[in-house]
Amino acid sequence: MRILRTIPEVRAAVEEARSAGGTVGLVPTMGAFHDGHLSLMRAARAASDLVVVSLFVNPTQFAANEDLSTYPRDEDRDAALAEAEGVDILFAPSASEIYPEGFATSIHVAGLTDVLDGASRGAHHFDGVATVVTKLFGIVRPDAAYFGQKDAQQVLVVRRVVRDLDLDVRIVACPIVREPDGLAMSSRNVYLDPDARAQATALNRALDAAAAAFEAGERDGDAILAAAHHVLLGAGIAPEYLELRDAETLEPAARVERDTLLAVAARVGAARLIDNHVLSVTDAPTPIDERGDA
Ligand code: AMP
Repeated sequence: MRILRTIPEVRAAVEEARSAGGTVGLVPTMGAFHDGHLSLMRAARAASDLVVVSLFVNPTQFAANEDLSTYPRDEDRDAALAEAEGVDILFAPSASEIYPEGFATSIHVAGLTDVLDGASRGAHHFDGVATVVTKLFGIVRPDAAYFGQKDAQQVLVVRRVVRDLDLDVRIVACPIVREPDGLAMSSRNVYLDPDARAQATALNRALDAAAAAFEAGERDGDAILAAAHHVLLGAGIAPEYLELRDAETLEPAARVERDTLLAVAARVGAARLIDNHVLSVTDAPTPIDERGDA
């Protein structure tokens, strides 16, 4: 595995693989790797000739009051883990390589970024994500890029950028990887002390409770959310948001009649955590109260 720091070096390495007829897979990350990141690398490895992982703690997606300075960083460990997954190139640029003096462009996706994490963290967050991901696509020109469903809204935002700007890249969303007790893996889980770590399991348990109500035939949004709120309340967690939204458009969903994203964000101890489930109408049994006679 090569560790590259500059855009020209990455372009040259990718060009070499591409001119030999190879396909290129990109996994954008902010490092502090866990099994969630590694699952994306495995998916990229299985489908590409050249796998590029970017490791860049992108300053523009953090607000002034967020954890940019304390975000966990351990490049040596990350490099060893990426190498063990068969990654070919770890692109670990400096901030000035990505944002040189005079950088003035920002990509803003209207609508999708007004809600959930866009509302909670502010518009800058997804502008920073959309801008850096678009730059990475321009630098690496991957055939496919791999993202985690853990950041469901991010996947939708990136897909919209690709569609709206006619970028020639396939976006692959990979399933959420969880700890054995259900907590979604996150680089920010290291902020959790033992008490907060135990409390944090309530997020997935709350989503499970809501999903169970849905699977039992409940379609009313408030009733489904109440099942989740009950679990969060029991764990002493007041969510920043707990919402049902259309899984494609993020329009509010008063009833679950289409595939619907159930998304939660909460502060637990020193960490801000997010998690989600997709309530899939196509997988679920027909609700009793709406089953036809025929
Ligand atoms: P990050 O380093 O947190 O920016 O994440 C890099 C990529 O890994 C993003 O596409 C995330 O959605 C994905 N990711 C983070 N946590 C998980 C997880 N628990 N399961 C699957 N993918 C994840």
